[in-house]
Amino acid sequence: MAIIDSNGSFVKTNPACTETLGYSETELVVKPFIEFVHPEDKQSTLDEMARQRQRGYTINFENRYICKDGSVRWLSWRAIYNKEEGITYATARDVTEHKQAEARIRRLVEANIIGIIFFDMTGNITEANEAFLSMIGYSRDDLLSGKVQWTDMTPPEWRAQDELAIEEIRATGKWKAIEKEYFRSDGTRVPILLGGAMLDRSPDQGVAFVLDLTEHKRAEETIRKAHEELEQRVIERTKELSEANMKLKELDRLKSMFIASMSHELRTPLNSIIGFTGMTLQGMSGELNDEQKDNLTRAYSSAKHLLSLITDVIDISKIEAGRIEAYPETFPLREMVDEAIATIEPQLKKKGLTLEIDVPPDINLITDKKRLVQCLINLLINAVKYTESGGVTVSSRGTDGQVFLCVIDTGIGISEEDIHRLFKPFERLENHLRVKAGGTGLGLYLTKKLVTDVLHGDVSVESVKGQGSTFTIKVPGDIRQTQKVSIEQSGGDIL
Ligand code: ADP
Repeated sequence: MAIIDSNGSFVKTNPACTETLGYSETELVVKPFIEFVHPEDKQSTLDEMARQRQRGYTINFENRYICKDGSVRWLSWRAIYNKEEGITYATARDVTEHKQAEARIRRLVEANIIGIIFFDMTGNITEANEAFLSMIGYSRDDLLSGKVQWTDMTPPEWRAQDELAIEEIRATGKWKAIEKEYFRSDGTRVPILLGGAMLDRSPDQGVAFVLDLTEHKRAEETIRKAHEELEQRVIERTKELSEANMKLKELDRLKSMFIASMSHELRTPLNSIIGFTGMTLQGMSGELNDEQKDNLTRAYSSAKHLLSLITDVIDISKIEAGRIEAYPETFPLREMVDEAIATIEPQLKKKGLTLEIDVPPDINLITDKKRLVQCLINLLINAVKYTESGGVTVSSRGTDGQVFLCVIDTGIGISEEDIHRLFKPFERLENHLRVKAGGTGLGLYLTKKLVTDVLHGDVSVESVKGQGSTFTIKVPGDIRQTQKVSIEQSGGDIL
C-alpha cells in the first residue's frame, strides 16, 4: 500500500510495498513515485493518474517498477483519489509471475510450430494461433465469432470420441492425445492428433494442441503399400520356388529311375562276363597258361567290383526314388546275425581274425530281414577289411522296443575329424589299407539310407584311431509301429 500526495510523491508506504521494491520507506518517502516506474510505462502511468483525478479511482491498472536491485516487477493497481486532500490511497498486487507465465504461453502460441486453440466447455473457440488457422482453412474471425464451432469441424463419426474426451477432461483436467479428423473450410479432411488440458485459474477455459498428421499418414500409407507389395512379391516368389522345387524333385526322381533301369541293363552283360571268365578260369575251356590265368583273374575281379558298384548304385537310386519299401517278416535276431556272419567268415579266417558273437537267442524282430542282413553284412565287410589283427565282435541288445546291433572291431579306427565324412557317398578315408582293402565308398552311405529310409532306424559310430571302431544299427523291434503303410497294403512277405 502507498499514499501519494498531490505532487505525486510517496507520503507513506507499508512493509509489503518496501519489501516488493527493495527500498526502505525513507528511501521512498517524499520522492516522486514516477521515478521508480519503468521508462516504457511512465507515460501510460501519468495518463492513468490524470484519469484518476477526474474519475476518482483506478482499477486493475498494470505497470512495471524498477526495484532497488535493478529487477523489474509488474504491479496491478487499485486506487482511490481523495479530491479534498489531493491524496491517492493505492494498493497493488505483485503480478510478475503471472505476467511471466502469460508471456511464455504467448511465445509458445505465436511460435506456430503446432496448432493451439483455447476453448470453453461449451465448445466455443476463444483463441487460435496461425498454425491452427492454416491447418483448418478458416479465418480467426470465423472461429472467434462463433460462426464455426468446434463441433462443426468434427466429422460425425468422430463426435462420440470427442464426447469421451470432454468427459475425461472434466474428470481429470486433461485428455490424452487422440487421433481424429477435422473438416477444413473447403470440406476436405485433415487428419490430426489432439491433446489438451484445462488451464489453471480459469476452470472453464481449456487449451488444446493440434498436430497435423497429413504427412505422417501419407508416409504410413506409403509404407503400408510397400508392405503389401512386398507381401505379394513374397507370395509370388514362394509360388515360383515351390514350382521350381517340384520340378527339381521330379527331375531327381526321373534321374534315379533312369539310373535304376540303366543299371539293370548293365548288370545282365556283366553277369555274363563274370560267368564266362569264371568258367574259363576253372579250366572248362581248356588249360590256361600262367599269363592267361593272371589276365583273366584281373578281368574277373574287376567285373565283380563293377557289379557290386552297380548293385549299390541301383539300391541307392531306388531308395532315393522312393521305390524301396520294407517287407516285414518275423525272425529271430540270432538267426539273421548268423546268416550275415556266414558270408564274411572266409575272409575273417583268411586274415586270422577272431570272432565273438554276443546276441541273446530270444530276441525276435519284425522288420525287413533282407535289408537288415544287407546292412549288417556291409558293416561286417568293413570291420574285416579295416582290421589287421585282433578280431570282430557282434553284440546286440533290445530295450524299449528298439534293437541295437553293434559291430565292434579292433582295426585301424577313424579320426574324429573324419567321422562326419563316413556316411557320405564316394567318401573313402585316407589310410594305408585304402588300396589293399578296395571299395567304392558307397557301402556306409547305402547302409545309412537303408537303415533310416527303409528300416526307420539309425546308424551311429564311435571310433578311436588306431584302436578300433564300433558301428551301431538301431532299428524298431517291430517296424509296423513306425510304418505309415499297413502290412496288408505293402504286398510283401506277411507274417
Ligand atoms: P568302402 O567301400 O571304401 O569301404 P564305405 O562307405 O563302406 O566304403 O566306407 C567308407 C570309408 O570309411 C572307408 O573307405 C574307410 O576309410 C572308412 N571305414 C569304414 N568302416 C571302417 C572301419 N570299420 N574301420 C575303419 N575305417 C572304416
